[in-house]
Amino acid sequence: MSNEKNLHFDSRVIHEALTPDLWNGATLPPIFQSASSQHETAQSLSDTFAGKQKSHIYMRLTNPTNSVFEEKIASLENGKGAVVMSSGMAAVNNTCMALLRSGDEFITGTSLFMSTYLLFTGIFKKYNLNVKIVDTKNIKEIENSITDKTRFIYIETIGNPKMDIPDIQKIAKTAKANGLPLVVDNTLASPYLVQPIDLGADVVIHSTTKYLSGHGAATGGIVVDGGNFKWENNERFPDFAPFIERKGELALLDKIWREHHINFGTTQAPFHSYLAMIGMDTLALRMERHMSNAFKVANHLKSHKKVKWVNFPGLSDHPDHQTAKEEFNNKGFGAMIGFGLENQEQCFTLIDNLNMIYHLANLGDCKTLIIHPWSSQYISFDPEVKTGLFITPDLIRLSVGIENPKDIINDIDQALDII
Ligand SMILES: *Cc1c(COP(=O)(O)O)cnc(C)c1O
Repeated sequence: MSNEKNLHFDSRVIHEALTPDLWNGATLPPIFQSASSQHETAQSLSDTFAGKQKSHIYMRLTNPTNSVFEEKIASLENGKGAVVMSSGMAAVNNTCMALLRSGDEFITGTSLFMSTYLLFTGIFKKYNLNVKIVDTKNIKEIENSITDKTRFIYIETIGNPKMDIPDIQKIAKTAKANGLPLVVDNTLASPYLVQPIDLGADVVIHSTTKYLSGHGAATGGIVVDGGNFKWENNERFPDFAPFIERKGELALLDKIWREHHINFGTTQAPFHSYLAMIGMDTLALRMERHMSNAFKVANHLKSHKKVKWVNFPGLSDHPDHQTAKEEFNNKGFGAMIGFGLENQEQCFTLIDNLNMIYHLANLGDCKTLIIHPWSSQYISFDPEVKTGLFITPDLIRLSVGIENPKDIINDIDQALDII
């Protein structure tokens, strides 16, 4: 059952990487809840440490349950290998750290996940890892900011909460022409909507906490290596030589795993991988419903008198509507909506009067979730920085769930009526 390439995505997402014949017929991988693995002979452990034999040593390094999840996501993202980690931020951090040396630079856009933004503009500075933030829609601006010290370009498939959709193909072309890898955080789109590696990206990152799991029961992250980047003879990456020698096309994934993941201890609990795999069985079905619900909710909000503006790539007046249509093959526009009321007070009244919709800091859950970013996730940011990140006091962010769309709309409407 390991080669499912002939199936369509919505079937592969269920069947990929399952080997019941190796699991006493079980249709889900066992949870290998064991800190380390016994080896019958001294030679076996020595060969495993030397990388001559594929086997498990210690849970911080690898775990058999995690390996199934890694194989599954690598395949669904059309990559050649993956490493699962304890959170999406572990995946972002380990990937960037493996790519950078002190003094190096990288390029990214203006709309980033909040913790990613803090990591890039705050913590990384301490180690002289230098981010250049540009308008990723402007290819000239990207090109002009590339120097000898640039090591990669980093984007998110759907920016949050700006809801912008960068043109992955165009940016990948520029990256390639300059010998740079392109890293894409595909959390908000999921592989159901797009496989960035097929569009020329080199590395894909996910917070598995979100759409991949869908149940909001476990945090997790994963890095997928497309295995297409040419590290050898690239003068930007002289330090990759030992990793190329060891793992060839998967040099970066080896560097991420060997240097950072195992030494920083960003281990994923096998139970979390197991939960994520259960959630993933319904990914295709959930994404269809998430996105059709979001389309209905966005259009309803747009026609509501008390709603000042709606930011959703599915609306024909959204600046990236056409890019989203092409990039996502007309499958949908994601399920995140930003919309504006008169002021913060109205936003609070709306949130305080909802009955079904959950008010919490997460997204991609099957439940509809709402948040007022200005006063919560971004509370400690300077007002000017917030505005630069498109966080305004009137902004409400909605992660549309898979409930009956009428119930989502009714809940919002009855709360808007109170304003
Ligand atoms: C949530 C999120 C992350 C971080 O993932 P965690 O699992 O919360 O660490 C990174 N990128 C994006 C786009 C996210 O939505």
